[in-house]
Amino acid sequence: MARDAVEVRRQQSAAQGEVFLVGAGPGDPDLLTVKAVRLLDQADVVLHDRLVSQPIMDLINPDSEVIHVGKARSNHSVPQDQINQMLVDYARQGKTVVRLKGGDPFIFGRGGEEIETLAEQGVAFQVVPGITAASGCSAYAGIPLTHRDYAQSVRFITGHLKNNTTDLPWADFVQNNQTLVFYMGLVGLPIIAEQLVAHGMKADMPVALVARGTTPEQQVVTGTLADIVARVEDAQVRAPTIIIVGEIVALRARLRWIEQPGTP
Ligand code: SAH
Repeated sequence: MARDAVEVRRQQSAAQGEVFLVGAGPGDPDLLTVKAVRLLDQADVVLHDRLVSQPIMDLINPDSEVIHVGKARSNHSVPQDQINQMLVDYARQGKTVVRLKGGDPFIFGRGGEEIETLAEQGVAFQVVPGITAASGCSAYAGIPLTHRDYAQSVRFITGHLKNNTTDLPWADFVQNNQTLVFYMGLVGLPIIAEQLVAHGMKADMPVALVARGTTPEQQVVTGTLADIVARVEDAQVRAPTIIIVGEIVALRARLRWIEQPGTP
């Protein structure tokens, strides 16, 4: 039943078209959902972000129209409201539209904003979850996000600090047995490390930065709040990156299962 649901919905809404907001995961194409793979084959139009990896782009049906809509940091190639409107317009032309986004569309991906316009305008849509960067990167780095002995909760935080302000609830982040995962935090890393210590986190708290997680170029840099900035500078990492803070990072020494040249 579930297997055919996509196809049935597609036929029913052929006159009007439908938009599928699809999570592409963090990079490794093997981490796509079965539903995502099926939709990449069925799409008439695919609108994708810069973050979607090439091996995943290669799974798109060659007959589909493929449109790159952004977004590089501070350089949105297509403004958000225009993307929202494009989704509506293509669906109204009767097309099966895939809006392909990195990771999970509902985690720091503006997925909510995009389907809000669809909902307002009465366009049918479905949301297909994806593996979020925190899950993919922590798994491929050998760092469990929770662990009975070290962390009973995990927080996903955006490290995209507007205008370099430190406007985040830092005091809330400094708690025992909690893992922090900062998305979009590379530029803000010095502020993040400084503010956590300023709010009482121990300076030798383990930290990992995972760059291009789950891809063949994955790079993991580990250290502590005190030295992670210098270590990351030395390592010359390339975006995208996430930052994991917490005692669980130390488990990587025993649990890592992917060898990476040049990363101790
Ligand atoms: N919706 C996405 C997040 C979008 S915000 C998700 O659920 O993963 C973009 C941020 O995600 C990047 O700045 C980076 O922090 C993180 N990210 C995405 N893919 C990543 C990857 N392969 N490796 C490391 N970080 C990644």
